[in-house]
Amino acid sequence: MTKLAHFHGGLAIAANKCASPIIDSNLPDELIYPLLQRANNYTLPIVKLGERVLKGQIIASANSPFTAPIHAASSGIVKAIEPRIIAHPSNLTDDCIIIETDGLDAAIAFQPCPDYQKETPADLRAKIHQAGIVGLGGAAFPTATKLTTEQDIHTLIINAAECEPYISCDASLIQQQAKEIVQGALILQFILQAKHCIIAVEENMPKAKQALQQTINTYLIQLITVPAIYPTGGEKQLIQVLTGTKIPAKSLPAEHGFICQNIGTAYAVYQAIIQGLPLTERIITVTGKGIKQPQNIRTRIGTSTKHLIAQSGGYNQEVQRLIMGGSMMGIALSSDEIAVTKATNCILAMTSDQLESKSAEMPCIRCGDCATVCPAELLPQQLYWYGRSGQLEQCQDYQLFSCIECGCCDVVCPSHIPLVQQFRAAKGAIIIKEKQAEQANLAKIRFQNQQQRRAKEEQEQLAKAEKRKATIERMKAASLAKKKSL
Ligand code: SF4
Ligand code: SF4
Repeated sequence: MTKLAHFHGGLAIAANKCASPIIDSNLPDELIYPLLQRANNYTLPIVKLGERVLKGQIIASANSPFTAPIHAASSGIVKAIEPRIIAHPSNLTDDCIIIETDGLDAAIAFQPCPDYQKETPADLRAKIHQAGIVGLGGAAFPTATKLTTEQDIHTLIINAAECEPYISCDASLIQQQAKEIVQGALILQFILQAKHCIIAVEENMPKAKQALQQTINTYLIQLITVPAIYPTGGEKQLIQVLTGTKIPAKSLPAEHGFICQNIGTAYAVYQAIIQGLPLTERIITVTGKGIKQPQNIRTRIGTSTKHLIAQSGGYNQEVQRLIMGGSMMGIALSSDEIAVTKATNCILAMTSDQLESKSAEMPCIRCGDCATVCPAELLPQQLYWYGRSGQLEQCQDYQLFSCIECGCCDVVCPSHIPLVQQFRAAKGAIIIKEKQAEQANLAKIRFQNQQQRRAKEEQEQLAKAEKRKATIERMKAASLAKKKSL
């Protein structure tokens, strides 16, 4: 039996998982695709208003390694490219491609590649990129980019430690598609040429574990059960638990020979390579006391939250809060018109009795409880203080970007301070500031280049004028000389 290590902090919290098998969502009347994919990274629309699109067709292309193409999840007409509210902590309105579905579900011809071992890792990465695959654990980082590394990867970790309360999309997927997930893991292992592959499941997922055990007996993959301590599913935390290796702040797992991929991503890779299918759907848990029939739904990306809730029997009681994601890391939604994206793993409708009745925020009493539970070993009280007073450089000195927004500090804070909210705002402010600085720097470089170009042009013109003048004078002198000689 593998001896497991522990990471700092963390919490044991009630799982509240929904154990229902996966059902298919019905086709919505419209599909909504935000062009903003993650952080500040946009895709470019490549369809026009009124154009007919087919299921699996690329409708927006990636313009950097930090985005992946978006594909239509069903056939229909491009009805609009217009601003809609999107899933964002600040309830942002941003441009979206809207497809009015035609009910036919007509698809492009897919190109399966069952003999993947005959392909090169670079070709397989290109197929994964073209299929629009991103990390389905919630981060939505493009998978092909994550698989492109100069580092020598010795261990691939398939993360099935679905540790956040309420979310059960991964557990339900494993129970129904264990064989395909294992094949996806083997494809990823082949691409990375990694010697070891570990699939990590949480101890409170016995059925998923059993399904994997029955499948991977014949393959060279190690199945390890990890304790149900939140957030074991965090990338760095999971690596530490499984291998004892602590990945330092500001360092990536790949620099230490590890790459983690979510179990849903492994399944999407199987579909993209073996079946030739782009990423147009994913499993989403629709749950919470505010939902009549909590369930796991195979959902077309771009479906509205409202549509999924209607398919789950509708709202139960007065819903106090609608969340995209789990209760710890999710984003509160201002409307159920917001569409699900590749990053959406859960829709959670919470009623007032599910929500901890939070008293008003009080001053920090410096108890240090937040630091005790922080899995990233940060000092949340310091970060909060610096963030609140706009001291962004100090926030960075105190490793704000190592915060995984797990919410453990929020849960234990006796002063009910919304710490994570503050950290997200501070991160946003730093990103904007850096972008502005970058743009100002670019503008400065552009201006300097312009000045240099102008100076060069002026010099060239001056040289030309002098040359012209000299030629004229030479000609005058020649003509004078000619006249004199006559
Ligand atoms: S939200 Fe950030 S600061 Fe708070 S416990 Fe989690 S990692 Fe630490
Ligand atoms: S847990 Fe709350 S009150 Fe205690 S130190 Fe952290 S921020 Fe301050």
